[in-house]
Amino acid sequence: MFYRDTWVEVDLDRIAHNVSHIKEHSGYEHLFAVVKANAYGHGDVEVARAALDAGATHLAVAFLDEALSLRLAIKDVPILVMGPVRVEDISLAAEHKIHITVHDMDWIMQAAHYRGPTVNVHLKMDSGMHRIGLTSAATLALANSTLREHKHINLVGLFTHFATADSCKDYYSQQLKNVAEMTAGLDLNTFEYVHQSNSAALLYQTPQPNANCARLGIAMYGLAPNNEMSSPVSLKQAFSLHSRITQVKSILAGDKVGYGATFEANAPMKIAVIPIGYADGWLRYHQNRSVSIKGKLYPIVGRICMDQSMILIDETITTGDQVDLINDQCTVDMAAKDLQTINYEIVCSISDRVPRRYL
Ligand code: PLP
Repeated sequence: MFYRDTWVEVDLDRIAHNVSHIKEHSGYEHLFAVVKANAYGHGDVEVARAALDAGATHLAVAFLDEALSLRLAIKDVPILVMGPVRVEDISLAAEHKIHITVHDMDWIMQAAHYRGPTVNVHLKMDSGMHRIGLTSAATLALANSTLREHKHINLVGLFTHFATADSCKDYYSQQLKNVAEMTAGLDLNTFEYVHQSNSAALLYQTPQPNANCARLGIAMYGLAPNNEMSSPVSLKQAFSLHSRITQVKSILAGDKVGYGATFEANAPMKIAVIPIGYADGWLRYHQNRSVSIKGKLYPIVGRICMDQSMILIDETITTGDQVDLINDQCTVDMAAKDLQTINYEIVCSISDRVPRRYL
């Protein structure tokens, strides 16, 4: 139940469509549905359930807090924390059957003293992203042998992350080469999970022969990592954002709208007010962009306020009409292009103050 006329709609059938088609295309046995950041703003529990029903086998998040919160609703599916977890929190992860990432030798040395319940871990290789991960064949071999000897740590996975699977084929190929060199001394069959691909690699590259799973994020939500590249799977945007007009008013030539009085009417005009603003993640950068009302586009005028925005409308629009800020006409990708950012940032930005409805 919610009491404001602004909401996000998440079409779970579209999530299911994207997951099942991408999984089929990949041919991988396992698929981690990446539901960090509240499933990229879509709602982690609902998306996780839809993704699992559609063929995802595991879940992945960035932080232990996210995994613990998800665990309250989803009991028996492995959840991987892809970012570092503090050594003192290993037992908490283990108690909740949460897989964690091992990212460097210092962490392994500290974890040598760990004596709690057995924890499943995945080794993270840095093959060129230069974010977290082990960076050489020698450290990887040492990490592998040290962890294999640990009685309370169960090494189940090996993974890396690509920086340019949607943009630079050469750098992507270099990362693959680095992975091959780093893992040459390891028996990959001793890992239950070997995962490399993100959405971009899943859509635009051929499956890596040594991997048996992948981590699917943005494309699960129906958004392409790079919409200038052709996708083998038709992606369906699951996210839309709506509001309802709370007041319509007539203004005269010379009247001004909003903080700073930045918009001045040059003729009699009609203005509609909607209850969404930058505290909802509808950032001030959206000023002057268009929203859709009954399928027709209208511009946002004046500065976007913390909780409200104003739209220049015509005689056909009245109080109570629905305004579509993001939908199939005003897409996430269009907003990203206008704001000179990426689609990930648009959906992640819409704050938890905006209720989510599931279709
Ligand atoms: N794997 C890791 C380690 C990530 O950090 C992310 C997201 O940033 C993903 C997978 C999913 O990437 P994408 O959303 O591009 O599929």
